[in-house]
Amino acid sequence: MSCSHRIFHCSCTPSFLLKPSHSKIKKMEHKFDSEAVIQEFESLTKDAKRVQLETLKKILKENGEAEYLKKWNLNGKFDPQTYSSCVPLVTHKDLEPYIQKIADGASYPVLTGKPITTITLSSGTTQGKPKFVPFNDELTETTMQIYRTSFAFRNREFPIGNGKALSFIFGSKQFTTKGGLLAGTATTNVYRSAQFKKTMQAMQTPSCSPDEVIFAPDFHQSLYCHLLCGLIFREEIQVISSTFAHSIVHSFRTFELVWSELCSDIRTGVLSAKITVPSIRTAMAKVLAPNPDLADEIQKKCLGLTDWTGLIPEMFPNCKYIYAIMTGSMEPYLKKLRVYAGGVRLLSADYGSSEGWIGANVNPDLPPEMTSFTVLPNIGYFEFLPLTESNEVDSVGPEPIGLTDVQLDEEYEVVVTNVAGLYRYRLGDVVKVIGFHNSTPKLQFVCRRNLMLTINIDKNTEKDLQLSVEAAAKLLADEKLEVVDFTSHVDLTADPAHYVIFWEVSGEASDAVLKECCNCLDRSFVDVGYVSSRKVNAIGPLELRVLRKGTFHKILDHYVGLGSALSQFKTPRCVGPSNRKVLQILCNNVVKSYVSNTFG
Ligand code: AMP
Repeated sequence: MSCSHRIFHCSCTPSFLLKPSHSKIKKMEHKFDSEAVIQEFESLTKDAKRVQLETLKKILKENGEAEYLKKWNLNGKFDPQTYSSCVPLVTHKDLEPYIQKIADGASYPVLTGKPITTITLSSGTTQGKPKFVPFNDELTETTMQIYRTSFAFRNREFPIGNGKALSFIFGSKQFTTKGGLLAGTATTNVYRSAQFKKTMQAMQTPSCSPDEVIFAPDFHQSLYCHLLCGLIFREEIQVISSTFAHSIVHSFRTFELVWSELCSDIRTGVLSAKITVPSIRTAMAKVLAPNPDLADEIQKKCLGLTDWTGLIPEMFPNCKYIYAIMTGSMEPYLKKLRVYAGGVRLLSADYGSSEGWIGANVNPDLPPEMTSFTVLPNIGYFEFLPLTESNEVDSVGPEPIGLTDVQLDEEYEVVVTNVAGLYRYRLGDVVKVIGFHNSTPKLQFVCRRNLMLTINIDKNTEKDLQLSVEAAAKLLADEKLEVVDFTSHVDLTADPAHYVIFWEVSGEASDAVLKECCNCLDRSFVDVGYVSSRKVNAIGPLELRVLRKGTFHKILDHYVGLGSALSQFKTPRCVGPSNRKVLQILCNNVVKSYVSNTFG
């Protein structure tokens, strides 16, 4: 029996931590009861303060024997005041030595009472290299709770019948650490769990692809076969999904290139020779059979589309919605996603990280840009660090406040205490409180905190960069072109130092337009520090470097090679000098560059 099930039986556990009861869960695994899940959610969120207190107590009690917690002398006290005065706020760097001990096979409790048997590799796309994070069955259970909660609300609004999902999900490479623990990305750990399959089955959205495709050792082959399975089961596909929207856009961009090959496979019933992994070939042989009629139909539809607009409803006529995280660094992909989606609704997914889930989207009727996440008060203990100039990572600032004490319209950094050995862990994400659901806040994702373009007094976040790119990309739209992807860098080797924006564009744009885009990018950073520094040339003119087509594919390949999975891939929006390999890929693929003359 998994540990997660054990907590449901512990007699000293408060009732809301026991819920949903084991038998209720078993029932839900077979038939999904949206109303029961919603009821559960309502009662948890009505009592958020108490639930938080009990959740903290449970975490501290269960892990009291761990080396890390013993070090802080809680003396058997489990209240938030003692906790926050004894245990410090930490970043990943502080916990790294402890996590390493676990990975190396420590034989005593280091961060958690029960031994950690699996390590998660966070995507690491922001820092340049994947990080190790502890993972356990309780985290899988909180993931399922988030999935069930948002699905219950989604299903009430947009019900689906029995069918399949075309899920662009990809297992990453798994390896064994020195101490014999299995390590892989969070999504891989979740997809491999028995609970995941059961939950997806209950939600009537099992993946149309066999496991051998999801867990293929080569994601190019995996993606090709996901598309093929999608077409084979096209009438049954009810939902198209992925963890992050980038994977869906990437997958349909690939479709544009390989559709005729897919048709040929369907026509002949013979899988393309480029699929070389024996286990995928064996699994695909069970679903692929010659079907010339289907191949003709798909071919006709593809040839009939203009610029691939409405590709998804043409290929998947019964698709009810497209589901993935579409907020934050995924927003730039929405434009392209809407082209593929035609009239099919986009529903933005929940908020979480390799370190654990935080909130569910319980208002699926809102467009992705307006999505908020209602915090589930029993999946972790949450604190919120008010944003001020002085509490940048590594410095001391105001104390964090509790989940139910946050203020409307204020922005905070999220601090997580989870069920897998993270205590007062600064997640590095900035969120804004935009309302409350009962007594628990609804958060909007703002940006990664440490992602900042800064040279001297200027401060630009990921969001500022996104807005600037959006403004400049409008100039390309007149030429029927788009920014495929983008990133940035601060060139400190130049004098004066300046911002560099890298763009991959969907086709050939004229020099005049690109020059204007470059000026517009420079103009669109409206932060006063930036503008004043630009005016006196303390920051040099912004540089736009246009990349060879396929450069971002190379970056994706690089991350996947490091152990990241396409499922969790997020283009790094700012590449620092320490991220040498990615910077090298970018610099080696520049085809043109432009220098702004916005400030004369
Ligand atoms: P990972 O390291 O791959 O686990 O990615 C986790 C990070 O992805 C979070 O810390 C956020 O920065 C981002 N993220 C996750 N969910 C969302 C969301 N719904 N909206 C915006 N960003 C998100």
